[in-house]
Amino acid sequence: MSKPVQTINRYKADLREFKFLLFEQFKLDALLGKEPFTSWGVEEVESSINECYRFVREVTGPLNTIGDVQGCTLVDGKVKTPDGFKEAWTKLYEAGWKSIGVDPEYGGAGAPHSVRVVIEELICGSNASFSMYAGLSHGAAEVVEAFGTPEQKALYCERLFSGKWAGTMCLTEEQAGSDVGSARSTAKRNADGTYTIAGTKIFISAGDHDLAENVIHLVLARVDGAPAGTKGLTLFIVPKIRVDAAGKLGKPNDVKVAAIEHKMGINGSSTCVLAFGEDGGCIGEPVGGDSKLNQGMPQMFRLMNGARIGVGLQGLGVSSTAFLNALDYAKVRKQGSNIAHFKDATAPRVPIIEHADVRRMLLDMKARVEGIRALIMKLVMHEDCARALGGTDEKLRQYHHGQVDLLVPLVKSYASDQAFRICETAIQTYGGAGYTRDFPVEQYCRDAKIFSIYEGTNHIQAMDLVGRKLGQAGGANLQAFLGDVAKFVAKESAHPVIGPEVKRLGLAQEALAGSAMKLLSWFQSGQIALVPLNANRFLGMMSELTVAWLLLDAAVIADAAAKKVDPKHPDAAFYAGKINAALYYARTCLPNVDAAAKAMADEDKTPIEIPDAGFATV
Ligand SMILES: Cc1cc2nc3c(=O)[nH]c(=O)nc-3n(C[C@H](O)[C@H](O)[C@H](O)COP(=O)(O)OP(=O)(O)OC[C@H]3O[C@@H](n4cnc5c(N)ncnc54)[C@H](O)[C@@H]3O)c2cc1C
Repeated sequence: MSKPVQTINRYKADLREFKFLLFEQFKLDALLGKEPFTSWGVEEVESSINECYRFVREVTGPLNTIGDVQGCTLVDGKVKTPDGFKEAWTKLYEAGWKSIGVDPEYGGAGAPHSVRVVIEELICGSNASFSMYAGLSHGAAEVVEAFGTPEQKALYCERLFSGKWAGTMCLTEEQAGSDVGSARSTAKRNADGTYTIAGTKIFISAGDHDLAENVIHLVLARVDGAPAGTKGLTLFIVPKIRVDAAGKLGKPNDVKVAAIEHKMGINGSSTCVLAFGEDGGCIGEPVGGDSKLNQGMPQMFRLMNGARIGVGLQGLGVSSTAFLNALDYAKVRKQGSNIAHFKDATAPRVPIIEHADVRRMLLDMKARVEGIRALIMKLVMHEDCARALGGTDEKLRQYHHGQVDLLVPLVKSYASDQAFRICETAIQTYGGAGYTRDFPVEQYCRDAKIFSIYEGTNHIQAMDLVGRKLGQAGGANLQAFLGDVAKFVAKESAHPVIGPEVKRLGLAQEALAGSAMKLLSWFQSGQIALVPLNANRFLGMMSELTVAWLLLDAAVIADAAAKKVDPKHPDAAFYAGKINAALYYARTCLPNVDAAAKAMADEDKTPIEIPDAGFATV
């Protein structure tokens, strides 16, 4: 007999960790109560996090398994989402969690980005599939907010931010995946100024569903006569149901769901093949109007930063709950005896958390999860600091924006690559039970795989880092980043607890700087093939360096705070955990940076030199 579908919440988060990051490590309180965060204080931030955690455990968390088991279905050309998703959508927007960071002009609460990402982590971690619908709607709204005409903003922004309507991003076509510029969808201008759209998009997340009354597709298409490649792409607003200027729904807009995909994970998220204009009746308008034709990619890039951080948050949310579930299991599952009694068959069985290798896996997951969270927080604090400047210091604003640009590929790639590996380690921690559906970690692992693929594969991110970001502002952004690490090393090398690890960080920083020069030399000497061969490796090195830096920074703070805490207070163990995570990561992961730098210096070309037929004889 098959086991019933779980409808209980299995999502877990460590709220103490959020408060440490926001207030002890990144000092958000210094920005609160001032422009543009005048209505936000420490109390508002803490109560929002507590309240949202309660919400996700009651509303979205219990739907995670149902979404996985039921998936989405296509009924009479319309997508039906899993049971409970519609009610959860209504509650999510009524509670205001999706609009917490939105500009008050569009009905939001204007929270700092650093607070918004905590809320997003809770939503994504509790139910990654469900989070896709609202995430894409939010992204579409941000594009219209940034680039739309005043009329488009008035018509779409608040409705998209409030969940009345939903949104999508339609880039991918069968022949145009990573190579977005190969898109063949077309747009023809009509006499009334609208455009007739035609083409088929594949893999469109939230491409159709029953959660909102309309779906607003943002579609990349080429206007007749526009240049080939990405330069000729325009972004069009294409509603599923046509709307008038007042937002009243009209006729269907000739957008058909040709199919939905059956996938490895995120089954509760509908992934659609969408046919636009099969009957010649699909109408759209360019985002920003006719003056913004061929601006689709620059507009998308603006959205991409937010979307890529969003994918990093999905990775963080899912891997964090995988780790915390594995930790709970390790405390109760009894197996084997303590190694000190290995000869005594009658020795008591102990919880597996007492075994050294299980502790290694738990600390490995903890260090990586908390490192990813710190990496994301570092990025969004740059955003919040830039916003708080309010145009007062252009040089400082440029510094913050430069760091955001530099860190986005790390957040997207490192978080997503690691998420899958952390979830796999969580399964390993459980043993056989982790491989079954009795526990949530096998779903987490399946759900997490997509994060390294969509929103640009992680190799595309790595090429963005080495091909574009390292050289941005004449290399000044990278120099500023390396300088920030160097300052920390200079300050903390003699630290009594983590001094040796900080010195190791200094060596890794030098190795990374050397590898950046290596990349430059390959560009300059025409050895261009070595660049993509080493791009992922360089992104990994820079991510590990950044994570080690931020974990060691946290350890310095934790060490000082621990001295003021009663050893029996739970904070004493919390701070000890922070210090141990940093030491572990610096000793176990940081050496990878040096090893990777040496591998880069070897200039290995075997993946290029091996003949195609040499891969296998089949
Ligand atoms: C569940 C799901 C949801 C999605 N949601 C959306 C969505 O909402 N909207 C949307 O527009 N798209 C969406 N996508 C599409 C997704 O963004 C693409 O799958 C992704 O960009 C990769 O494209 P592709 O699948 O065609 O792979 P390909 O581009 O064919 O890549 C295959 C492999 O080749 C590598 N590769 C490709 N080109 C190069 C190159 N020039 N140099 C080196 N390596 C290269 C890739 O890194 C990858 O390893 C979704 C996909 C999935 C599976």
